[in-house]
Amino acid sequence: MANILYDKLMGKHAGKATPFLYLPDGGVITHAQFLARAAQLANAITGMGLAPGDRLAVQVEKSPEALALYAACVQAGVIFLPLNTAYTVSELAYFIENSGARLIVCDSAKKDSVAPMAGPLDARVETLDADGTGSLMEAAQDQPETFETVARGADDLAAFLYTSGTTGRSKGAMLTQGNLLSNTEVLVDHWRFSGDDVLLHALPIFHTHGLFVATNIILATGGAMIFLPKFDVDRVIEWLPKATTMMGVPTFYTRLLDDARFTGDLVGHMRLFISGSAPLLAETHVQFEERTGHRILERYGMTETNMNTSNPYDGERRAGTVGFALPGVELKVTDPESGKTLEQGEIGQIEVRGPNVFKGYWQMPEKTAAELREDGFFITGDLGRIDEDGYIHIVGRNKDLIISGGYNIYPKEIELLLDDQPGVLESAVIGVPHPDFGETVLGVLVPEKGREPDPDAIMEAAKASLARFKHPRKLVVMESLPRNTMGKVQKNILRDTFKDMFA
Ligand code: ATP
Ligand code: MG
Repeated sequence: MANILYDKLMGKHAGKATPFLYLPDGGVITHAQFLARAAQLANAITGMGLAPGDRLAVQVEKSPEALALYAACVQAGVIFLPLNTAYTVSELAYFIENSGARLIVCDSAKKDSVAPMAGPLDARVETLDADGTGSLMEAAQDQPETFETVARGADDLAAFLYTSGTTGRSKGAMLTQGNLLSNTEVLVDHWRFSGDDVLLHALPIFHTHGLFVATNIILATGGAMIFLPKFDVDRVIEWLPKATTMMGVPTFYTRLLDDARFTGDLVGHMRLFISGSAPLLAETHVQFEERTGHRILERYGMTETNMNTSNPYDGERRAGTVGFALPGVELKVTDPESGKTLEQGEIGQIEVRGPNVFKGYWQMPEKTAAELREDGFFITGDLGRIDEDGYIHIVGRNKDLIISGGYNIYPKEIELLLDDQPGVLESAVIGVPHPDFGETVLGVLVPEKGREPDPDAIMEAAKASLARFKHPRKLVVMESLPRNTMGKVQKNILRDTFKDMFA
């Protein structure tokens, strides 16, 4: 019987001695070894009573065994539910309780604090440590290296992936085998991945970027990954000469550019650099090209939909844009009030429809109904516009839109200007309550290393080039911006910090 995701990504490599994971210590894990380990894990978890459709929650460090556990869940039809390693025990309680997991896999250091959460759910707790040891692996090691794959179709759930929690409480996105497989196939084709590719993988594997985009693509093609536990500049520079492609969040690229060892010679052989998860500054794009001759390919996606848009492989990769809708994905920009499609060039909410769009939020029927239209379009919560050449620009999140005295103000426009000012490394523009205007504009500036931006001079510059209603009422300097564990700026925290400034 078929299991479409397992068959297309994993099962077809059974028995192959081709390299799948290159490890930092020089070790290599072949496809055959990886799948044998996954099968042992599938035997172990089903032996513990997990049935198709049950949830397995995992909060563990990145390791080949943790990745094999994902493959094991796919093969056994168990819903894989990876959790950010940065979550504290008290944060974890929400996810575990919310998901109704039957089995929780955690680091052995956390076992004692996780156990009480398992009780009310009647769930089991097993451990898996960064070095690949723990009670789960003990249970798996004597199991058979084959497992009878459980039949699954396109509509069967494969994973619950929690959103990053940038705008509020994380939501569990229910993703089907069809969601994951369709996106993988489109991306392989769009980005020209083949079995010859070696992807430098320094991303976490609890998030869509590192787990589904990177890993699924490499699995589908039969290529290999240099599997680094985290982004460490020294390690990345050491391994880049052996890679053909790399995927990263924007900070990976800025950190590489900050290092003199990162040169055109080091990466002259590379085929492709891809960026996403947060906006890549146009300046980073330009600096990267000047240094290496490569243009970073920026794409746009989210937990609920996997990837939606991408800059072209062959055509112009345009800085500051996320390119075009991927094949099979419909994208429109609509008026937030009426839901009607806007004229090209106008800013509105981005909606997407396609085989990549999730089935809804786990146990949040109201939120699902509010964001997932009956006709299949998902309201992403991002605002954007389509330029005259069809490139899509993300201008920010709907929740970050500032409405002051009846005018809509898009923070991105002001941030771009502030970022360009002397001594400013980056900025965040937010709306804070104001007695006359409802909301007013506040700019937060982060200084470049060793420099002190001059807020008065910057205010003058802003006034000279922005319409009056967009002028920041005040500029404040902060050492750094609050970011969540995925490196995304948390404007809700800034709004809370400054909420009484003009009240
Ligand atoms: P939450 O939904 O819980 O508030 P989140 O939206 O940050 O958190 P993710 O699903 O990890 O959680 O992130 C998706 C979001 O990341 C997108 O909606 C978008 O705002 C942003 N994003 C992703 N890629 C890009 C990009 N290339 N440019 C700009 N923003 C991007
Ligand atoms: Mg979101």
